[in-house]
Amino acid sequence: MTKRPVKLAKERGFCAGVRNAAGFFERTLDACGAPLYVLNELVHNNTVTDKMKADGAIFVSSLAEIPAGSTVLFGAHGVPPEVIDEAKGRGIHYVDATCPLVRKLQMAAAAIAPERDLILFGDAAHPEIQGVAAHAGTKKIHFLANSDDIAALPEVLCTPILLSQTTRNSTEIHTVAEKLKKKYPDLEDHAGVCNAVMARQNAVRELAKSSELILIVGSPHSSNARRLQEIAAACGVRSFLIDDASQLPVDALTAAASVGVSAGASTPEEAVKKVIEALVALGFSAPEENR
Ligand code: SF4
Repeated sequence: MTKRPVKLAKERGFCAGVRNAAGFFERTLDACGAPLYVLNELVHNNTVTDKMKADGAIFVSSLAEIPAGSTVLFGAHGVPPEVIDEAKGRGIHYVDATCPLVRKLQMAAAAIAPERDLILFGDAAHPEIQGVAAHAGTKKIHFLANSDDIAALPEVLCTPILLSQTTRNSTEIHTVAEKLKKKYPDLEDHAGVCNAVMARQNAVRELAKSSELILIVGSPHSSNARRLQEIAAACGVRSFLIDDASQLPVDALTAAASVGVSAGASTPEEAVKKVIEALVALGFSAPEENR
């Protein structure tokens, strides 16, 4: 019997910003030893977080939980400047693993004149957006979760500028920017996803052309992994976001003639390999990389 094909997205898994943060963790742990405190999460992936806990990381949601003289790592999504001031005030050593591209966004926000309005497209509760908002040179910030929110924005804004979370859907960002330009002809548009996110989103769009079902390996709280699953679904392909091989949708896979696999920017390749092994055990062929 012919085995059913599996295609792997060419661009998948760890981006440069996540590799950078993982490198900070390893070097800091080597230099300072365990326990190494991490504020919130280094990256949004449960497999990575579990491995770091096993290696000696302690995850905290507040600097008040960290004894003075200890070392804390700030994750790839960045932190507000007040968090750095608080660490200094509490006598906590800090290592800042903010992705250089998120830092660029923070600096763009910091350069905005106080009289201007900033429209921030993204999830207002996400640490990246909170960090960017906290760096902004203006207090006139309007958070936008989707294009429906545009109607609620004031009719007149002062030379508005648009920035966006790096992990949103690139098509959605374009739609939002176009609608905003109709309402605010003087809008300065600096919105966009980072290149790594764009490459992973485009790879899923390609995968959708030849897959009956798509698996995205990533955690449910990872913004970029969720976007990959939404993009596959928007292409009309049944898709599932799974943290690891234990969450394979076995019933749906039984009926699928072909499967595509990709992974979010914070998902380690090891988790993808285990999903592939589980697919092969279910009777699928060894994977081919999608060209
Ligand atoms: Fe940096 Fe982009 Fe990776 Fe976010 S997704 S950590 S912005 S490279």
